Amino acid sequence: AHLDRIGEVDGAVHAFLHVDTEGALRAARAVDDDVAAGRAVGPLAGVPLALKDVLTARGMPTTCGSKLLEGWQPPYDATVTRRLREAGIVILGKTNMDEFAMGSSTENSAFGPTRNPWDLDRIPGGSGGGSSASLAAFEAPLAIGTDTGGSIRQPGAVTGTVGVKPTYGGVSRYGLVAFSSSLDQAGPCARTVLDAALLHEVIAGHDPLDSTSIDAPVPPVVAAAREGATGDLTGVRVGVVTQFSGDGYQPGVLRSFEAAVAQLKQLGAEIVEVSCPSFDYALPAYYLIAPSEASSNLARFDSMRYGIRVGDDGTRSAEEVMSLTREAGFGAEVKRRIMIGTYALSSGYYDAYYGSAQKVRTLITRDFERAFGEVDVLVSPTTPTTAFRIGERTDDPIAMYKADLCTIPANLAGTPAMSVPSGLSDEDGLPVGLQVMAPALQEHRMYRVAAAYE
Ligand code: GLN
Repeated sequence: AHLDRIGEVDGAVHAFLHVDTEGALRAARAVDDDVAAGRAVGPLAGVPLALKDVLTARGMPTTCGSKLLEGWQPPYDATVTRRLREAGIVILGKTNMDEFAMGSSTENSAFGPTRNPWDLDRIPGGSGGGSSASLAAFEAPLAIGTDTGGSIRQPGAVTGTVGVKPTYGGVSRYGLVAFSSSLDQAGPCARTVLDAALLHEVIAGHDPLDSTSIDAPVPPVVAAAREGATGDLTGVRVGVVTQFSGDGYQPGVLRSFEAAVAQLKQLGAEIVEVSCPSFDYALPAYYLIAPSEASSNLARFDSMRYGIRVGDDGTRSAEEVMSLTREAGFGAEVKRRIMIGTYALSSGYYDAYYGSAQKVRTLITRDFERAFGEVDVLVSPTTPTTAFRIGERTDDPIAMYKADLCTIPANLAGTPAMSVPSGLSDEDGLPVGLQVMAPALQEHRMYRVAAAYE
């Protein structure tokens, strides 16, 4: 049914870069066989899923939305992919994304933008716009995204779906093509909080193949989502971050947020205002750290090891071929990031830019620690605005970067955060998201609050 649905609507939505019809049917039949033979299957066995094209999966291309990797077939499964398969989850295909996960609108994909199912003239968020759009368009009930600065939560918010960024190290990065290694984190996307929790428990947990993977029990998120669904938040302290309002926030988004806070109070939560002053510097710190790491990570695309090769006609040096390949293979935003990152890391500027950004990162972590000394979870709007129109911000990188104003602090601190649908804006009738943030490895707290609110 989902493959049929993709056939009907994906021409307009363009959530998928690759649909693996045969593989999906094979995986689905294998679950059928298990059930028929009386073998035990997990709670998500047979449920279809859309996988962001930044995670490797055998038998399918992995492009990261880049022309540079067009046609590249990875020889191995990411740990996330392997766990999905082991749980009997049916992978429908790979979803569209901003090139190498750099963007907030999916317009930076080399294969054309994804459209927001709520309004096809608008962006579905990014970089994981394909994953979230596939949920909103009912092409898949589950999806996987990755979140470096907001790429799971921001698309979730603007498509009216749930998106979770786990604690850094909570989900293995093995087989996740690196953008900014100290920030990247894969996580579940779904239409309900409980669905996200069920998927979370499939993909999370220690992995010796990722040296930053945390060797600790997976937080009990399914139990928390069930507990939250009773709608009782008595005794839960919810912090409202005062920094997330003012200039750049749509009045409709702020009104929706106020209504959400009022509802949490009605459910029994105690509401406390908390100030996190360093959050004001999160965006500039992120846009130094993420491009710095990206400029280093993307050095692997040297025309020898992966993807396309341009100009290799026997007359050119390896360096010339590499240069021509990167020139032709990378899009404008990726080149911008490589230049910013290379500059920020260059000798003479390293302390002023990268060093300062790392200090800000520490201050942000401390703000979170102080806040979580007072409250159980923090809440904010997920994004300052609802989905903007396709093309509206493509000439203005700074305006594009501002889409992640509220999501970036959690990436810099490594703490978990999620977006849960918060109704439609009374301004433009488009989806708004409520962000719920928790301390590291305390995902169950935010799942409980999100499930109660949902
Ligand atoms: N929009 C942010 C960026 O462009 C975040 C991307 C992400 O989380 N992958 O870097």
